[in-house]
Amino acid sequence: MLKENQTELLKNLLLEKKEQLLSETTLGQAIIEELQSETSYDELDYAEVSSDSHNLYVLRNKQLQDIKEIDLALRKIEKKTYGICEMCDDYIGIKRLKVKPHARFCVECREAYEKGLDR
Ligand SMILES: [Zn+2]
Repeated sequence: MLKENQTELLKNLLLEKKEQLLSETTLGQAIIEELQSETSYDELDYAEVSSDSHNLYVLRNKQLQDIKEIDLALRKIEKKTYGICEMCDDYIGIKRLKVKPHARFCVECREAYEKGLDR
């Protein structure tokens, strides 16, 4: 179980990371709008992008995904469910959370999840 000061520290990490992600991308504003509207125009985007901008598209999607996971983690802090693995309900270690504060799974479940993706 996380102590209150540990949660506070991780919350700050999450907020910093989010800010960094938003400032890194020139599409930051578009991402904010997309998050607020909750609509996805990914398919539309995909049809319109040329191969030159494909990398940008991939990067943008990765950043969008990270930001969504960070928001999810911040919501979990408010609901007091932060730091608990979504698969096995076990506590995710503080060491892992310091490396990846928006981690959704503990190490074991993460490995199982990634193996599942390979199949
Ligand atoms: Zn787990």
